[in-house]
Amino acid sequence: MQGGTRHQCLMPIKGKTYSLYGGSKETDQYYSTIRELTDRFLERCPDKQELLQHIQKSGKDNSFLKKLTIKQVHKPLISYINKTLKDSLSVFTTGVKQHLKTLPLSRRLDDVLKTREYQYHLYMIEIELVNRIYRMAFKKSDYKFALIAHCLRDFRPECKAFEGEYESECKSCTKDCFINLGTVLLRKYGINPFISVSMDLDKLFNKIKSEHKSVGALGIACVPELVQGMRLCIKLGIPPVGIPLDANRCARWLRQCKESSFSLEELEDLIK
Ligand code: SF4
Repeated sequence: MQGGTRHQCLMPIKGKTYSLYGGSKETDQYYSTIRELTDRFLERCPDKQELLQHIQKSGKDNSFLKKLTIKQVHKPLISYINKTLKDSLSVFTTGVKQHLKTLPLSRRLDDVLKTREYQYHLYMIEIELVNRIYRMAFKKSDYKFALIAHCLRDFRPECKAFEGEYESECKSCTKDCFINLGTVLLRKYGINPFISVSMDLDKLFNKIKSEHKSVGALGIACVPELVQGMRLCIKLGIPPVGIPLDANRCARWLRQCKESSFSLEELEDLIK
C-alpha cells in the first residue's frame, strides 16, 4: 500500500450528511461495526439474499409501497435491524437531519438528496451484504471495470484525464491524487478503472455488457449513489461490489466540490 499521501495526512473529513470517521481519527471503526452488525443480522436470517431483500424493502421511502410489501417483510427481524442500526450507526450520519430541514422543495424530488437517516443505515449494511454476495462472481468475470467518483481527484493541478474506451481515464499526472491511487491499485488486480462522469449508467452498463462475455462492476461513490449503482447492476445481471466514499462532499451536496477520500485498504481487501 502506498504511504505518506496528501490525503492520509489530512484530518478526518466531514460530509454534508455523513462521514465514515464518525468522530474518530480513522474509518476502521466504521468498517468493523458494519461487519459485526451484518454478522449479527445473518445469525437471525442466515440466507444472505433473503436478508438483502428484507433490507431493501424496509428502506423504501414510500408508505404505500411499504403497505403493499409489508406481508413479505419479516417484521420482528426488521424492527430488530432498525433499532440496532439507529443505536450503532447514528454517529456516522449526524448531518442528515439538518440537511433535510434545509433542502429546498425544488430538490426534494432527487432520490439521492432526500435520503433519510434510517435509509443511510440500511444502505450501509446493503453495501456490505452485496459485497459478500457478489465478490466471487465479480472476481470471476472476464471483464472487470470500476467507476470512481470524479470528486476524488486532487483539485490542485489541472486534471489531465483523457477520453477512454467507456469513460474518462486517469493520466496519473499527480501521485497524491486519490483517483490515481485507486487507478494504480485497481490495475494491479486486472480491473479497468474509469472516472465516473456519465449520467446514464443504464446505457453505459448495457454497452459494456454487450461487448464482453461476462462483466463485473466495482463502484467507488457516496453511500446512496453506490447503492443505486449496485441495484442497477444486479437488475442488469452484472455482479457488483463497491467501496463508499468516506464522506459526501461533491457539488451535488455542497455549494462547491470539496475533495473526498476512500479506504484504499478496504478496496485492496475486497479485490485481492
Ligand atoms: S491524477 Fe488523474 S484524476 Fe488526478 S488530477 Fe491527474 S489525471 Fe486527473
